[in-house]
Amino acid sequence: MRGLMQDWSLTVDRIIDHAARVHATREVITRRTDGTIHRTDYATIRHRAKRVSAALRKIGIGLGDRVATLAWNSERHMECWYGAMGIGAVLHTLNPRLHPDQLAWISHDAGSRILILDTSFIGLIETVREQLPFEHYIVIADAQTLPDNSLDAMPYEEWIAGADDAPEWGGFDEKTACGLCYTSGTTGNPKGVLYSHRSNVLVSLMALGKGALGIAPDDIVMPIVPMFHANAWALAFAAPAAGAKLVMPGGQLDGASVFELLDKERVTFAAAVPTVWLSLLHHLRQHGLALPWLRRVVIGGAALPVAILRAFEEDYDVEVVHAWGMTETSPIGTIGGVPAALAQADEATHVAQQLKQGRPPFGVELRITDENGRDLPWDGASPGRLMVRGFAVAGAYFNGAGGEILDEHGFFDTGDMATIDTHGTMQITDRAKDVIKSGGEWISSIEIENITLSHPAIANAAAIGVPHPKWDERPLLVVELRSGHSIGADELRAHLDGRIARWWMPDEYVFLNAIPLGATGKVNKAALRKIIRNR
Ligand code: AMP
Repeated sequence: MRGLMQDWSLTVDRIIDHAARVHATREVITRRTDGTIHRTDYATIRHRAKRVSAALRKIGIGLGDRVATLAWNSERHMECWYGAMGIGAVLHTLNPRLHPDQLAWISHDAGSRILILDTSFIGLIETVREQLPFEHYIVIADAQTLPDNSLDAMPYEEWIAGADDAPEWGGFDEKTACGLCYTSGTTGNPKGVLYSHRSNVLVSLMALGKGALGIAPDDIVMPIVPMFHANAWALAFAAPAAGAKLVMPGGQLDGASVFELLDKERVTFAAAVPTVWLSLLHHLRQHGLALPWLRRVVIGGAALPVAILRAFEEDYDVEVVHAWGMTETSPIGTIGGVPAALAQADEATHVAQQLKQGRPPFGVELRITDENGRDLPWDGASPGRLMVRGFAVAGAYFNGAGGEILDEHGFFDTGDMATIDTHGTMQITDRAKDVIKSGGEWISSIEIENITLSHPAIANAAAIGVPHPKWDERPLLVVELRSGHSIGADELRAHLDGRIARWWMPDEYVFLNAIPLGATGKVNKAALRKIIRNR
């Protein structure tokens, strides 16, 4: 017997329809590439997104066609998302921090005919234009602000002004492809993760839950995490779904610029990777500033260092939510916090729990397995390969890359190593390929890095394994000092001593002016290993 409820398909166009109807005048603020602040609202975004749909239709784009964007977080980028997705086209976000050759490779693999880009990326695209498959270039600008270029590009404002009908949205199956995002994989070719409308709607609803990101209508949400990084962690869907005000920071993600928006726009909720937060905290300390409006920050993409946790909670009275996820999980995988069973425990236990990556919300299932695929106990002490299954987890990559990616139970191998404790709380011990294997035992590079980062002179840190004749590998610690600080290996050693096991102590300390970061703002260990090898 079938249920008798309405057939209301889960397509993302309904999110902006809802926001435009119920929260029509709720503001969306953007810091544009020229630094000016632009103010609009959900009703206007929906109206203009319809124009984008019409403009796409005019050049023959429809169901299943890919539409590429190369853009920072902005209201016009959002219009492109909803305009493309609404007519069943697939919005493909390109990451501008990738090498131009990689951008070209990904563009071909994705097969988009059109690229919509910020003015700041014109030069980048011109360098590889010959290798790109695009027939149409649209620059997010108007006729007056469109810079000279060799792309034969059309300004966005003129492009959408020339299309004045308003195509119907939706009407297709909720499992229709909706977005395409390539993994930032440091080895091999990037692989495309193809989100569906259903997975995006469900992950957005999941994000709204209080046990997840808990976004409410009175929130002012700033996704500092870019829209090209795993769906901006669902925030460009979840914020309009909740009716929250949105603050889009554009491309200026340094501490001073982030602070200015947090303060002026009274942001209550923001999300970013640890490197962004480190630079904000540094700016706050340097200038003696406070964060009176900010209530909650989500920190994910890389492990939360204890120094960030303490600074936010103790110095600025901001709640920290540590989250783990990946492009393949849309990206919410686990959400950190102190389980109710430990509410009365001591402060050290609370901190230890908050530093863990957290528990999966409903809709995400986890396993940890040994090298033979057997389940390991949830005892908080047995690290194994982290496997994941759920309604917003990739079942295969675009164009069949990587072949079969699920095990016989339908679980995806995350490539992360983790423990899970009796409370169901997961802790990443390492990326499987970053684990330091010494004398047959594993050393967690993440833990060494976190403890190093709690030293006030350290701006960034990375532990890597280097070959050793007796122990197989030994840890080497690379650090980047804050400007104006100078400490040596002895002080670093003293800082780690007693905080990590004796045999985890790095054999060598290397000081670099800048630790290389990858395309999503995380330490690029592959590049770092190369630097260390070529010293
Ligand atoms: P990406 O698909 O680029 O978002 O990268 C996903 C990977 O980032 C995961 O597989 C983890 O290795 C890492 N990652 C994400 N969040 C965390 C976290 N909170 N702690 C440690 N590693 C993380």
